[in-house]
Amino acid sequence: MSNLSCPVCGSPLKLKYRLKFNVYKCSNCGLFNSDAKFEYSFQSSLESDSRDIGLKNLRLKNFATIIKELRKLFGKNFNNIKGLEIGSGNGWWLQTCKENNISCIGIEPEIIYKSYHEENNLNVLYGFYPDVNAIQDGGYDFIIFNDVFEHIPDINDLVENLKKDLSNDGLLIINLPMSTGFFYNMATLMHKFGISSYLTRLWQFNFHSPHMNYFNDKNMKMLLNKHGLSEISALDLDSLDFPSLKERIMADKEMNKLKARFLTSALTLMKPVILSSKPDIKVFFFRKKL
Ligand SMILES: [Zn+2]
Repeated sequence: MSNLSCPVCGSPLKLKYRLKFNVYKCSNCGLFNSDAKFEYSFQSSLESDSRDIGLKNLRLKNFATIIKELRKLFGKNFNNIKGLEIGSGNGWWLQTCKENNISCIGIEPEIIYKSYHEENNLNVLYGFYPDVNAIQDGGYDFIIFNDVFEHIPDINDLVENLKKDLSNDGLLIINLPMSTGFFYNMATLMHKFGISSYLTRLWQFNFHSPHMNYFNDKNMKMLLNKHGLSEISALDLDSLDFPSLKERIMADKEMNKLKARFLTSALTLMKPVILSSKPDIKVFFFRKKL
């Protein structure tokens, strides 16, 4: 497998672990890269209803942090900015933008949320980026990925396309899980002891849209720098909303009720350790260099 090279820095990738798909690690930049496949049938073990209840509080709290940063970065232009979200899912980010008077269009390949988008008058184009024609005159002031960037197979092509769609000083905002966080380290440790289900869950290998990459601070910056974007800020986001933890764990159909209850209690007990570890989710703000 030594013929595989890291999509960030080009160094050889080494096989790290075999799960449902193989996961490789770059010895230079530490990128974790999988050979997972996207299932276009959209059949998976994800129960969207349970997921919604569990995730909503957490997402909205993190979106408020991102909006605050956007206000700071755009200053007096804040009310005139135009944004694009890639992978809008349920539309919560678009809804947040609407509440904050930000104009933002979404692109989403799945139509299961269409009625929600329509009921809430959210502007969503259905299909895959960049095939969907969402061209904005002069480019977008920001393009945002909320838990989506890690699912995209060809990240170099992606970033080149994003550059074309951003305005001259446009911002690329990437909100994603980190390979240096508490949960990733814990799952890796459990895998070493022969329990692989948590690592499989983190990579979402049983879902139709698995993770393709797991980034750290260093390789995230390296990737974007390589394509001419520079980091202007990075913030830690919350990864667990403790009151809704159980619903989130129950979102996985393969998790039985007893196991879910046990995991919820264990995580609640470990709350102090989790909160003092490196962040599990971060948001990065990059600016296109002129
Ligand atoms: Zn690398």
